[in-house]
Amino acid sequence: MPAYSATPVFDGHNDVLLRLRRSGQADPARAFLEGEAVGHIDLPRAREGGLAGGLCALYIPSPSMTKDANGDFPTPEQAPALNETLAMARLLFDIERRSEGGLTVCRSAGDIRRAIAAGSFAAVFHIEGAEAIGADLDALHVLHQAGLRTLGPVWSRPNIFAYGVPFRFPSSPDIGPGLTDAGRNLVRACNALRILVDLSHLNENGFWDVAAISDAPLVASHSNAHALCPHSRNVTDKQLDAIRDTGGLVGINFGVLFLRRADEKEPSTGIEALLDHIDYIATRIGIDYVALGSDFDGTMIPAVMGDCRGLKLIIEGLRSRGYDATALAKVTHENWLRVLETTWGR
Ligand SMILES: [Zn+2]
Repeated sequence: MPAYSATPVFDGHNDVLLRLRRSGQADPARAFLEGEAVGHIDLPRAREGGLAGGLCALYIPSPSMTKDANGDFPTPEQAPALNETLAMARLLFDIERRSEGGLTVCRSAGDIRRAIAAGSFAAVFHIEGAEAIGADLDALHVLHQAGLRTLGPVWSRPNIFAYGVPFRFPSSPDIGPGLTDAGRNLVRACNALRILVDLSHLNENGFWDVAAISDAPLVASHSNAHALCPHSRNVTDKQLDAIRDTGGLVGINFGVLFLRRADEKEPSTGIEALLDHIDYIATRIGIDYVALGSDFDGTMIPAVMGDCRGLKLIIEGLRSRGYDATALAKVTHENWLRVLETTWGR
């Protein structure tokens, strides 16, 4: 297989496993390997688009999308969440086994570098919302042995660990309480196992609680600048500064919901809005702390991008805004690799 081109993209968040699981196809692994006409990512399109790898989320949807009396999405129970997590992990490993080297589940930064050099999609086993894990953390330890390397304690709903920030616009991310005692134990256990703790769906209190406990860089894998789009899922200037101070990063989310100043899902949102978020964060905290976190297959992206083959528009856009090769490498993959190397160890 050919190595990826000069500017491979390692991306902080995709939901391709969820899309494949929900597609109802008899052989979703084959659909990924051979390619299909729907969604944002499959292996042929990733190769064509220079998408060299990323964090592949195992996310368990709420049992219903009807909000409860508190305005929150209902939280899945642990047993069905664990069952579904195992099914999604199996799908990822099936894809790896059948890919003939086309996809590698990576457990170290070295694995990622080698996979990218070999032209193999560098997939990282990520959990978004830790409902599959009980307060005893047994499942955390077992899943880590299976390859789990990054974890968001919550999606945008409450669980036993923390309170996920609800989707609100315009709104501060300061909604609800911080980590529970179980949540603090989870963060300490992740630090000990060197699992990256992803802050993207935490509310502000949870963010600062993790900041106070964690010995690892602070990372929001798929969030944008609150100063440009005042959505509750985006990070404030103060949070950005804390991310910089720990050597962490923010992965820019391509979702139109998190890009625009107005509260509307508008697919006509252009690439410029996305580039503005990169510029803003690079200007405020530095080029070393901004990366990509597309949310491919999990959200509505600018229609002009189409799917992951539209990554070239971002690279071209950054070039035309004066980003040189070094800056481009940082935004597209080097910053992620640095943060993962620091968090996981060499
Ligand atoms: Zn998400």
